[in-house]
Amino acid sequence: MSKYILTIDAGTTSERAIIFDKYGHIVGLSQIEFQQFFPKPGWVEHDAEEIWTIQKKTITDVLKKYEIKPSDIEAIGITNQRETTIVWNRKTGKPIHKAIVWQDRRTADYCENLKLKGLESLIQQKTGLLIDAYFSASKIKWLLDHVAGARELAETGNLAFGTVDCWLLWNLTQGQVHATDVSNASRTMLYNIHNMEWDEELLALFEIPKMMLPKVKPSSHNFGLVDKDHFGHPIPISGIAGDQQSALFGQMCIESGMTKSTYGTGCFLIMNTGPRIITSKNKLLSTVAWQIGEEVTYALEGSIFICGALIQWLRDNLKIIKSASEIEVLAETVTDSGGVVFIPGFVGLGAPHWDPYGTGTMLGITRGTSQGHIARAALEAITLQNLDILNTMEKDADIKTKELRVDGGATANNLLLQIQANVANINIIRPKIAESTAQGAAFLAGLGTGYWKNLDEIKKIWEPDKVFYPQSDTNMTKVRKNWSKAIDRSKNWLSE
Ligand code: ADP
Repeated sequence: MSKYILTIDAGTTSERAIIFDKYGHIVGLSQIEFQQFFPKPGWVEHDAEEIWTIQKKTITDVLKKYEIKPSDIEAIGITNQRETTIVWNRKTGKPIHKAIVWQDRRTADYCENLKLKGLESLIQQKTGLLIDAYFSASKIKWLLDHVAGARELAETGNLAFGTVDCWLLWNLTQGQVHATDVSNASRTMLYNIHNMEWDEELLALFEIPKMMLPKVKPSSHNFGLVDKDHFGHPIPISGIAGDQQSALFGQMCIESGMTKSTYGTGCFLIMNTGPRIITSKNKLLSTVAWQIGEEVTYALEGSIFICGALIQWLRDNLKIIKSASEIEVLAETVTDSGGVVFIPGFVGLGAPHWDPYGTGTMLGITRGTSQGHIARAALEAITLQNLDILNTMEKDADIKTKELRVDGGATANNLLLQIQANVANINIIRPKIAESTAQGAAFLAGLGTGYWKNLDEIKKIWEPDKVFYPQSDTNMTKVRKNWSKAIDRSKNWLSE
């Protein structure tokens, strides 16, 4: 009996290989950062070959460092930065261009044009997404239009497209398997999430030959075997999910209404909506969470641009703290924000306000305002932004959430999570294993091979580290009211 599951976590800045045991505990980890390319303002690229080489090295390293034999790995799961677009030559296996990263804005004007043509509702209806340069469709089109000879090669079946999961799968199997999972497919803006097929009308709209596209499989599925030349043993690859969906699964948010938020530079919230596709009235995204067997689970997704970044700003720009963790100590010096409200609209206001002319704002400052009040207002701002999205999701999905599961770097901050419980008036749960994203892919892979028999078995190994219960003696009604008033003052500030 093999002992472990290995997750490949292909992130935006680093590649990691993490080994989990049967209890879902981490027994080994290896991580390597890779190069970011910014060839022009707004452009972000990765070297797909470097991604593969480094990823392979993390696997070799982790096995060696922890003295684990490849034959002791029962299965591999992959989780990845989503939407990043790679096109390669099927014969040579070489990418025709650098990977265009999800953050890349080079196709923003093209996407604006699609909106002007009135295509927003058609695309939202089919894919659950809002037209944006983030998603892969416009990036594939850009590659076909700008790389010499690419369109001809694509039309004759010589090119393959894939997101990072798909590219790694292709390389792990030495070109034997060209496939992706439903969660990654649902971020391309080419995949119809109703009939779960590549959409012919969208392919025609973006002028993308269907021959380039990978086969789409369930998230827990026997995708193929790692070529034994890589690690000396043919390990099955049996789970794939995009990072946010994988984190939702890793947090065991497996029932409709269960929601997680990842608190990093920004925050990513995602709510399981079960078999229902919820079309948001507030510009949230509907997406495929995962497919296990025949059963497809959907989700509603919302992101916040500035969360941990606000703490970085206080550290690097205002210099009122030296390290991110000091914010908790500073905020503890006061019992409330003293009426200070901080709107972190550094890049405009996102969901559910959607005002690009909104700006960063601090209101309610008096002669008595201290650094502590500002620190506390910053923590409140992170939690109130999460609450705004959570409330929007509840409204869109007509679901009342009972708890929020949290992960990410900023969840080390206990005060932040206590304030979150207080403002949202729900329980906030931080799991024992902070690596929800990697754990999700491990769970999917292990389910695929029967390492874990069913979801009940996995549910039993998922453990909370700490639950933050709402405290009733805090005056959060006033805080929420002040937040709404301050949002209104921030709106439209930059319009002239
Ligand atoms: P990312 O994956 O986006 O790089 P991480 O999950 O590594 O983010 O979290 C890092 C972010 O969390 C940073 O923006 C940092 O300011 C914030 N952060 C780290 N520790 C704390 C803390 N104790 N309190 C609040 N924010 C924190």
